[in-house]
Amino acid sequence: MSGRNPIEDLADLRHEFGEHGGVNMSVEASSTFTVIDPETMPDLFQGRAGPDKGCYLYGRHFNPTVYNLGRQMAALAGTEAAYCAASGMGAISAVMLCLCNAGDEIVASNAIYGGSFALLNDFLPAKAGIKTHFVDITDVNAVRNAITDKTRLVFTESVSNPTLRLADMPSLAEVTREHGIQLVVDNTFSPLILRPADLGADIVVHSITKFISGASDIIAGAICGSEEFIGALMDLHMGPLMLLGPTMDPHVASDISLRIPHLPLRMTAHSERALAMTERLDGLGLAVRYPGLESHPDHELFTEQHCPEYGYGGVFTLDVGDADTANTLMSLLQNEQRFGYLAVSLGYFDTLMSCSGSSTSSEMSDENKDVAGISPGLVRISIGYTGTLEQRWTQLRSALSTAGIISG
Ligand code: PLP
Repeated sequence: MSGRNPIEDLADLRHEFGEHGGVNMSVEASSTFTVIDPETMPDLFQGRAGPDKGCYLYGRHFNPTVYNLGRQMAALAGTEAAYCAASGMGAISAVMLCLCNAGDEIVASNAIYGGSFALLNDFLPAKAGIKTHFVDITDVNAVRNAITDKTRLVFTESVSNPTLRLADMPSLAEVTREHGIQLVVDNTFSPLILRPADLGADIVVHSITKFISGASDIIAGAICGSEEFIGALMDLHMGPLMLLGPTMDPHVASDISLRIPHLPLRMTAHSERALAMTERLDGLGLAVRYPGLESHPDHELFTEQHCPEYGYGGVFTLDVGDADTANTLMSLLQNEQRFGYLAVSLGYFDTLMSCSGSSTSSEMSDENKDVAGISPGLVRISIGYTGTLEQRWTQLRSALSTAGIISG
């Protein structure tokens, strides 16, 4: 692990009290803000006064409650600053549009969440003239070779969805620094576990919707980076957060800020359960992939780079060969065994299962899925920590047996 444990940074953060001395901060629900002195208004519009000086303008610009959650996200990520957005996609698209102009290029991992893939492969070229070259992100030479003088950033997930490969961020950062471009990392799968900013990322994005929320009841995102970059996102003339307006509601910000203190406990619980389950599946000789298993191609690198208290994450995959078998298994697990739910997304306290090829990666063509290693029978499992390990293992084993994946 490099750098500090993120929970030390969180604990060092100035505590924001409520207006009446409440131990939790108040929710600032106003969409507009008064100024006492009329002279402050032009200062706000010219960027000379801002939230760092306690000056607020309008709710689509900075909001105090969302700003405070941004401070927590920056502490978590180890960046100078952060701000939040209405969704992970709102955060990712704002970063792309802030860094790139029409005619610019992006180099991206070929194994990423289907929505991010569609944004880069379909939406940005058609709507903004921004082209992406997709590469195997574990091949640093392929990344280097794809960079041209038009490239503005390299985009990858720290742990790829759903193939669970680890991006070697220090090596990628060497390449991006050589070319004077930005390394943008989506750390949705591994908050606390990996700290991309300590490993060389310039900008870190999160879908808060997943582990950080933890209850599958909120859609939210965050962008973590330098003060200057967060300021650029909010620029009144060219800032995509300000102008496209994927604004986080302050009530959501307050809700999330109350969940961050127990994120470490939840990540540890997810990881412990995932490791125990995958070791047993591995023992049955099944095609299970999890970074905590020695058989995982990036196990050693992950072990060097992660924060050991939080393990190897709450997501693993099981390849059962074909889509029909995957559907039979998931149906048994949900409808007979009550092991978990057949639903997309991840980071819920209960288990969520989906067949990636026909769901969250279905934006990719069969050929692209093949290149990324997303086979038709690949079941992605975001393991919950409810119930006991033995209870859940009995349910899983029974369903595997009924589906004919194991005998006995
Ligand atoms: N990044 C990753 C890795 C994801 O898995 C997802 C959603 O599944 C997103 C980003 C998009 O996040 P949101 O649904 O919050 O917009």
